[in-house]
Amino acid sequence: MDDIILISTLNDFIFCPVSIYFHGLYGYSDILTYQSKSQLNGTKAHETVDHGNYSTRKEILTGIDVYSEKYRIIGKIDVYDSRKRMLIERKKHVNKIYDGYVFQLYGQYYSMVEMGYTVDFLKIHSIDDNKNYNIALPENDLEMKHKFENLICTMRTFDMNGFVQDNAQKCSNCIYEDACDRSASRGD
Ligand code: SF4
Repeated sequence: MDDIILISTLNDFIFCPVSIYFHGLYGYSDILTYQSKSQLNGTKAHETVDHGNYSTRKEILTGIDVYSEKYRIIGKIDVYDSRKRMLIERKKHVNKIYDGYVFQLYGQYYSMVEMGYTVDFLKIHSIDDNKNYNIALPENDLEMKHKFENLICTMRTFDMNGFVQDNAQKCSNCIYEDACDRSASRGD
């Protein structure tokens, strides 16, 4: 795996390391064919941000590229409110705060701080039901901070060749299942 890690792949890796390969393969060239309806909705949730339409207020920054030299991770933030010093990740629908969601925010957070921004608050916003979930800064949740750092180390040393997915439920819910020869829900 390349040395620089995309922040967006932190969540994918937790779901299944193989999905990162498919994400890169299909993610840009054929997005309509391979994304499920719910994932497309999630993409739409980010569309206004990616195209910079979210707000014209100057205290709101959207979709800016960020990089952390310390962790060698790169990505884009969703929304940063400089007046509130708050980093916000909007998702189409959140029914549970998965670790991967938190780690994506951590990646953005560390990058923003290294780039000189002040970030005091982290938030995940669920668009469908307009719910907000406050996330502690990693310095205030050391267990999650260690998990984040372990995840980055694991991703850097990961060997795809030896990987076997043994969670059939993940595979049966995976949009790449038809194309994937490691699917645990596929019979021999
Ligand atoms: S089908 Fe299974 S092994 Fe393949 S990418 Fe999806 S979750 Fe991973």
